[in-house]
Amino acid sequence: MYAQVIVDIAHSQVDKIFEYSCGDDVSEGCRVKVPFGGRVVDGFVVGLARKSEFPPEKIKPVAYVYDEPPALGRECFALMNELSARYRVPKAVCLRLFIPSEMRSGRVREAYKKLVRFLSSDIKLSKTAKNQLAFLRYISEAGEADYAACCRKFGRGAVNAVTEKGGAELVKVKVNRKPSGYGRGVDAPRALTPAQTAALESIEASPKAVHLIHGVTGSGKTEIYLNVISRALERGKTAIFLVPEISLTPQMFSQLKSRFGDKAAILHSGLSAGERFDEWWRLKTGEARIAIGARSAVFSPVENIGAIIIDEEHDGSYFSESAPRYSTIEVAKLRAGHNGCKLILGSATPSVETYSAAVSGEYNLITLTERINGRPLPQITIADMRKEVKRGNNTAFSQALREELSATLEGGRQAIIFLNRRGYSHTVICMDCGNVLKCEHCDVPLAYHSEENCLKCHYCGAKYRMPRACPECGGLHLRYGGTGTQRVVSDLRSAFPSARILRMDVDTTSGKEGHYKILRQFAEKEADILVGTQMIAKGHDFPSVTLVGILDADMSLHFSDYRAPERTFQLITQVAGRSGRAGEAGKVVLQTYSPENYILRYAVNYDYEGFFKNEIDLRKATRFPPFSLICRVMVTAEEDRAALEALKGIYFGCEELRAARPEEFIFLNKMHSPIKKIQGRVRYQVLMRLESGELLPKIYDLASEYTTAEAFAYVEENPINLS
Ligand code: ADP
Ligand code: ZN
Repeated sequence: MYAQVIVDIAHSQVDKIFEYSCGDDVSEGCRVKVPFGGRVVDGFVVGLARKSEFPPEKIKPVAYVYDEPPALGRECFALMNELSARYRVPKAVCLRLFIPSEMRSGRVREAYKKLVRFLSSDIKLSKTAKNQLAFLRYISEAGEADYAACCRKFGRGAVNAVTEKGGAELVKVKVNRKPSGYGRGVDAPRALTPAQTAALESIEASPKAVHLIHGVTGSGKTEIYLNVISRALERGKTAIFLVPEISLTPQMFSQLKSRFGDKAAILHSGLSAGERFDEWWRLKTGEARIAIGARSAVFSPVENIGAIIIDEEHDGSYFSESAPRYSTIEVAKLRAGHNGCKLILGSATPSVETYSAAVSGEYNLITLTERINGRPLPQITIADMRKEVKRGNNTAFSQALREELSATLEGGRQAIIFLNRRGYSHTVICMDCGNVLKCEHCDVPLAYHSEENCLKCHYCGAKYRMPRACPECGGLHLRYGGTGTQRVVSDLRSAFPSARILRMDVDTTSGKEGHYKILRQFAEKEADILVGTQMIAKGHDFPSVTLVGILDADMSLHFSDYRAPERTFQLITQVAGRSGRAGEAGKVVLQTYSPENYILRYAVNYDYEGFFKNEIDLRKATRFPPFSLICRVMVTAEEDRAALEALKGIYFGCEELRAARPEEFIFLNKMHSPIKKIQGRVRYQVLMRLESGELLPKIYDLASEYTTAEAFAYVEENPINLS
């Protein structure tokens, strides 16, 4: 037999299939080690053949076959071909998406436990061997016990002696390392509301492959997803359920666990390597049939998929920022196609692209306009911070928010304070010369962290001591600008001394389950106020939160990105949606320096359609996505010279493309990237706006053509982050 092998090396020059001879212990989809260029490397068997075209003396044998069921299925190979063609990455890089990284490194193995199992009391033991006798008595009653524990209790010698004489045997059993801390008892299915039933019926009845559930926050989308999943299971199929960031939404997983028990497996980066490994195998072997996780779980090893669900489909985390730079929705569509299953997207604030596909009839659009039980959406009040400043209020809180906060606290309910940033304050500015302290490696402002009294770069993690004087002019008047979570917390402490306050941001949530701990404390009402950044905007359901304060709603309006209005609308709607989800009506105070802004007006009225209409007209007039495609070729290098050389080559290549197809180009230019340097590498870009994706393959080719040992070039499509 001959194995067709893709070697696990991420290089375009070895991006082909190699043949090795093998025995019948090799099957399609299994992992092997093969000799390759004087070394032995890992490889994936993508096919088997009886014959080879190569002369037999040129074919080497497979060196090693991993002792495990085949890790890759047929669908993986199809996806591998599609993705590597689409995003121009080596096939090996695509295959890596399908298996957990800890499996590839070989660092994690299955975990085993040694047990001793009772066999017979009918053995000869010396009367003086007290420990042996005691152990035999113990194990004859227990039947089975942990080997290590028995050794501790009776002595290794005694345990081994009894086993050797046939009184007991040693057995090795596989242990499943299951993620802990998520369970929450039994959660019986609810009687569906008419709107939920109608949504499910629409999904079943519509012949379309993609369905968009556009439902206001609290409209019960989750219950619809759960029903879609149970229907898939009833038909003997599996399901994939994607959420933006699983570690931020443990409630979602608890719900799935309570409803589906061990049939649900979780895949996310917060798990230990061993847990992730075991959960992955549970899915692969079919022991678990629902995969839940963030972006990368779209590659879950489930077969025979009945439904793929993408919750909060508008979320930026669904775009991969490393190669292959895939869109999760695009991959999910491919998988839905291979499996003949439905893809369900859900959001209270769908992305403009998705919603326009839905209104054009490409997707099946399902609209839920009301919250469960007709609960009102929280009323949003705008607080004009310019007036507050004029009135001499220099704190982070408007009068309105302060009053609502004290009413909420008096009523024994909870509040969430949301702000758009992190750290004690953004930047440190020299009041004498205006210099902003920047990272030496990244050309971005440093952020001051008061707890460690240091400056940190959020791009490379570098830490700097807080200088006493400005490094530029020696001036001693350094000032922190902006407001961060820490300052908000300390302002809150002085305004409401008896309130219990929790802070959730990048600094307080490190470590495994860091987020989960804070969210649980808040859910269990161990705190009255939760202060946080973007992390608290997403899908949480805290029934006793009746007030949400949005401190700097317009921050994201000022980003130089065509998506800024959309992001702001989404953020306000999502954060506001955390308020008043149970009995009491909720309130939201939205603080802003630009209260007349049209996006805020749509957001305050929960007018998604109005917002969308306005936005789509604007994008049409200015020819931005979905009426065009923004394409950026990034070039990074340690030295300017290398970067500029590659940049020039790519740019001229693009100019040639434009000369041949001028109608495809709306915009083309080359420039420094907004952040000129990250981690010591300079950054340049060719930026273009294209009529369609037709020329993309050629642009991807240009990027690989000019990637050298010194310069690295890659393509981004409609990048989320243009920094
Ligand atoms: P969404 O995901 O649309 O924001 P959720 O699914 O979180 O909304 O539902 C909002 C609230 O309504 C939750 O507390 C949920 O438990 C509750 N809920 C959902 N469906 C039902 C139902 N059919 N009957 C009663 N309560 C429901
Ligand atoms: Zn840096």
